[in-house]
Parts: sequence; structure tokens; C-alpha cells
Amino acid sequence: MIHLQNATFVRSAAKKEDFPRDGLAQIVFSGRSNVGKSSVINRILNRKNFARVGNSPGKTTHINYFKIDGRFYLVDLPGYGYARVSQAERARWGRLIESWFADPSLMSLGCMLVDARHAPTADDCTMGQWFKQSGKPFLVVANKLDKLKKSEIDPNLQRIRDTLEIDDSIKIIPFSAEKGTGRQELLGEIAAHLGEGLI
Ligand code: GDP
Repeated sequence: MIHLQNATFVRSAAKKEDFPRDGLAQIVFSGRSNVGKSSVINRILNRKNFARVGNSPGKTTHINYFKIDGRFYLVDLPGYGYARVSQAERARWGRLIESWFADPSLMSLGCMLVDARHAPTADDCTMGQWFKQSGKPFLVVANKLDKLKKSEIDPNLQRIRDTLEIDDSIKIIPFSAEKGTGRQELLGEIAAHLGEGLI
């Protein structure tokens, strides 16, 4: 059973030798900087300051691994799309992500975060390609839903689907880290892909 009571930081990996490969399942989170990835992770775990909110640029080259209930890793891929990041650092980010996706065998589910307000960026589309090519299940979390008017929700979700070029088999979960919207649905997906129950 997953009860999300026990969440520990395991390590920050900057190269593939540091990726844990102990066979534990991995739930993977990606997203552009400022999309609310830290806030979403905190919301999922019901913590305030577990994953740091407002991470500064420069933290783009580490993959953070958290162990949850001793049952799976929550993998926090480094944010992308920082405006003020050097070409060299962008390239490092690319190499790190490439080496991570070189063997996605341990990935149970990819959770790709986008901003519910906007069309996905070119970087988001590139990330989408990584997930598609992994051949593993993934879903899209459209965060900051609370910033949308009701009438904007459906068209925006459709625009996200169209821009990322994903078919109906890929779920888009409307989410608000601020309000908690979508938390149960996302947890249900995570549990289903781990083959576990949730308390
Ligand atoms: P990260 O860079 O992707 O880890 O993003 P953060 O979690 O640091 O969040 C970036 C900013 O967006 C912060 O000011 C958050 O308070 C805000 N934020 C995150 N999620 C939401 C949300 O669902 N709704 C609203 N209104 N703001 C959010």
C-alpha cells in the first residue's frame, strides 16, 4: 500500500552513474521552470516544503530522487526553459536527460507538467517526444488550473493535446497545486501504474 507518509530525499544525480538502479519503480516528473513542479510534488505528498518551491536557475543539471514509502522513487527531472541559462548548461541538461531516457526501463509512469494557461512551448514538445519515444506510459498534468476561467478550460486542454500531438489514450489531468484540484486523479494513476492500492 502507498500511504505517502514516508518521503525521503535520496540523492541529486548529475550523471548516469548516480542514477539508482535497484529495481524500485520510478514515477517521473518533468516540466518547464516555474510551471509549478515543486508545488505539484509538495501537493501530492501533502508537504509544504519538501521539493523546494521557487528553485533558482542553475539547478538545471540535477535529477532529484525521492523515495516514497520505500515502494517507489519519485524522480524530479530538472526544469527547462530558463531564460537566463548558458548554451553550455542547456547542452548539459540535454545530455543528462538523454542519458536518463537511454534506459527508461524502470519508469512506471511519466508525469509531464505543462501550464494550463498556455499552449505548450517548443521545449514542452521536445519533452513530449522523449516520453513518447520511451514507450512507457505517461500523462500530462495541466497545472495552474485555478488561473483559468471555466470557459477556458476545455479549449485550453484541447490546445495542449493538439500542440503536443498526443492522442486520446494519453490522459491530461487538470491540476491546481494551489487548490489541490486533480490530486486524487493523479494519485489514482500513480497507484494504478505501480499496481498498488492507495490508502
Ligand atoms: P517549479 O519551478 O516548476 O518547481 O515551480 P514552483 O513550484 O516553484 O512554482 C512556481 C510559481 O508558481 C510559484 O510562485 C508557485 O506558488 C506558483 N504555482 C505553482 N503551482 C500553482 C498553481 O497550481 N496555481 C497557482 N495560481 N500558482 C501556482
